[in-house]
Amino acid sequence: MGGPVKALVFTAPGQVELLDVPEPDPAPGEALVEVRAAGICGSELHGARRPGFRQPPLIMGHEFAGIGAGGEAVGVNPILSCGLCAECRRGLRPVCREREIIGVHRAGGFAERVAVPASALRPLPPGLPWEAAALIEPAANAVHAWNQAGRALSPSGALGADGARGARVAVIGCGAIGLLCAATGLSGGAGRVEVTDLSPARLAAAQRLGAEVAGAGLSGEYDVVIDAVGSTATRAASVAHQRPGGVAVWLGLAEEEAGFDANALIRSEKRVLGSFAYRDEEFAQAMARIGDWDLTWAAGYPLAAAAGIFTDLMNGGLHPLKALLLP
Ligand SMILES: [Zn+2]
Ligand SMILES: [Zn+2]
Repeated sequence: MGGPVKALVFTAPGQVELLDVPEPDPAPGEALVEVRAAGICGSELHGARRPGFRQPPLIMGHEFAGIGAGGEAVGVNPILSCGLCAECRRGLRPVCREREIIGVHRAGGFAERVAVPASALRPLPPGLPWEAAALIEPAANAVHAWNQAGRALSPSGALGADGARGARVAVIGCGAIGLLCAATGLSGGAGRVEVTDLSPARLAAAQRLGAEVAGAGLSGEYDVVIDAVGSTATRAASVAHQRPGGVAVWLGLAEEEAGFDANALIRSEKRVLGSFAYRDEEFAQAMARIGDWDLTWAAGYPLAAAAGIFTDLMNGGLHPLKALLLP
């Protein structure tokens, strides 16, 4: 320990650089994490091109795991909430009015070491590979989306995914989130999960997880349509291919406009739910399941290669499907 530490820093729109930064100095209530694996998220590639919530200079990285100050293996739940607002008091930390995210509003995991609130640390199951540990966060998003669908389809509306048991599910988009949604649905009791994507490599990864390939686009009707892209076209498809009274769950954030047939929503009592982040118990569920899934679509790289990998992906490179930095 002692600084400086190497970090991938978002320095200007469209630009990231590997820099030496001062050793993080944990404030009271914070803990130092020695990062072992950190996933590059699509939202970061988008956010680096067009700065919004993320403003340079910033060390991004909200999907990461490492070694805590006591030598223990820890995952990091990056959602920080105030604990006081009406949403927090209802148990809805992810939609807290004062929500902040590690790696978005404060320095994150694209560094050798990072200081985070100690409350964000989660002990990892023994023996979980670092690459899998870095995928807990995106997997928790998938668990939440699946639970959103289950609550919508469950007659009692009870918490959990049982309402979607046996459901015919479509997943639009097989990036990391789409793949993890397919895996979550299959391990959560979906009757069948069909996926669509333009990339043969992504479809092959979905098949290795047990999903069926629907073809170039969806045809027919589904109980649950998960949109992991978020374009006007995929949002329209999520409504068009939903059975009457079904549910679409939207996680993709590619565009701001919706572009779907609102009258069809009314006449067939279709539904659309937004899904953002996850509850604490969903992060735990993702941690419990991630070790069981085929994750060979994710590839690890040393921090020294981070700027090049990030820049390639930001400029539209499709490979690797998911990049993990291994400081
Ligand atoms: Zn992410
Ligand atoms: Zn709050």
